[in-house]
This record gives sequence, structure tokens and C-alpha cells, in this order.
Amino acid sequence: MRRLGIHSFVWTDGGTQEGLEDAMEKSAACGFGIIEFAYLRPEKFDLERLAKRARALDLDIVVTMGLPLSADVSSEDLGVVRAGEALLSDAVKAVRDIGGIRLGGILYSAHTKYARMPTECGRKNSVAAIAKTADIAKQSGVELVLEIVNRFETNLLNTTAQGLAFVRETGSDHVRLHLDTFHMNIEEVDPAASVRLAGDKIGYFHIGESNRGYLGAGVVDFDRMFDALVEIGYARDIVFESFSNAVVDEALSLACGIWRDTWTDNEALARHAKRFIEIRYEEAQRRRATLARP
Ligand code: MN
Repeated sequence: MRRLGIHSFVWTDGGTQEGLEDAMEKSAACGFGIIEFAYLRPEKFDLERLAKRARALDLDIVVTMGLPLSADVSSEDLGVVRAGEALLSDAVKAVRDIGGIRLGGILYSAHTKYARMPTECGRKNSVAAIAKTADIAKQSGVELVLEIVNRFETNLLNTTAQGLAFVRETGSDHVRLHLDTFHMNIEEVDPAASVRLAGDKIGYFHIGESNRGYLGAGVVDFDRMFDALVEIGYARDIVFESFSNAVVDEALSLACGIWRDTWTDNEALARHAKRFIEIRYEEAQRRRATLARP
């Protein structure tokens, strides 16, 4: 693991500059090295000021987002696809301008429960859009990762195997997968095996519990997950993601179906998550070292 981070929605709905700055202070105070923001509209926030705060606090910034249906690059309507490509291009540039390191999330389709099957034509449009976005990201010094999410949040990429095939089709060496334990727990036959399958193609990793609340209070088998990450020598970032209607970003809460409190005290949650991940990860490393000893 390179750095351990936290999603800003643990702290703030992301609606105001002060909210974002406060979230950065709290993340750093809890010992996290990364903060993850949802897409920051450049016209709404002072990106340079956020970049400066991040540097002062030694925080890396990652941005994740999902596309709206009006800018769905997996659409068959080329006008909608072009709108999606423009949105992705703007998002990459915003990540660059805020001094961020990576853009992730549901970049290859809308973030919604689809009422139809994906189409071959729509998929081709999406592959082409991501390939174009990857070129822009590469030139901008921004990593590009595609989050594999459950069936209720996209119809295109629900499993790691689907994600790997999609990345191959882009023909780009700049696109990696963004895996998430919450989603894997829903869709994968064997989440740990899917981590091994993806190996070096994993560019980013979200840790979330099965009910999106406190780690350890659900059914995700974190020991097996961390064993797999240690085994593949995962050397990139891990970020804790948790949602509760104690902090509400309307768009994300609706898309993710956050209808109730899984917690109310965000600082206790954040401190617990950091300890939980560090201790369990260390235990996995110790198991691996013991295993390797003759
Ligand atoms: Mn996630």
C-alpha cells in the first residue's frame, strides 16, 4: 500500500469551499495521506486554494465521479457521447489544476440503475471515449482508473473480468481498474480471486463495508481481501469510503441509495477505519511472511 486515504463525503457534502477545506484538515488530523473528492466544478471552487491547502497538509487529492445520463459515453446517441467526452476532458483538467493525482469512478457510463441492457454500439462508444480520455489524462499527468460497480449503479462493468476486457479494448496502457470491496462483495464469485486476476491492472482500491458503514460491522471478508492485495504486491493507494445520510450529497446519495444512518459521528468512524485497515493489512503481511519462511 502506498498511501491510505478517506472519501470527503465522510466529512462534508462537498457543497462549499469551506466544507472541502474543513474536510482536508480533518482527514490530515486523523492521519490520512489522501482525500478523495467528488468532481469539483471549477467555476464553483477555488481549485488553486484547495491545491495549496493539500500541499501544506501533505495530502494527495483523488477525484472520483459518475457520469450523468445526459453525458453518458455508453449511449448510442453521439451527441450525448460527445457531451460525455467533454465532461471527462474537463474533469481530467480539473484534477490536474487542483494538483490531483488520479481520476476514478464510473467514467465509462452513467451512474444510475439502467432500465435496459448495454448495447454493443454503446459499449464501443464508451471504449473509444475512455481511450481518448486516457490520452488527455496521460498528457496531463493524471492517472485514469475505472471503478467496477454493482448492477444497480451501472449496466456495463460489474465484474473485474469485464473491466479487464474493457481496458484491453481501449488499447491504452494508461487505463487501470478501480476496485471496491463493497461492489465486489455483491458481484464477484470470489472477491479475493478477482483481486489476484486483476493484479497489476489495479490502479486504485476502495475499502467499503457491505452496508457502507463501519468496517468490520458487515460481511466483507477483509482478511482474504488484504491477503490477495499483499500477494499481488499491491503498491498503490487504498481509500476508505463510507456513506451515511448524516452527510448528504444529493446526487450521490440518490445514485447510491443512501437512505439511512450507518453512522452519525464521522470522526470516530474515520479513526476506526484507519486503525482497522492498518492492523488488518499488517496482519496480512505477517501471514504472508510466515508463509514464505522455510
Ligand atoms: Mn467506491
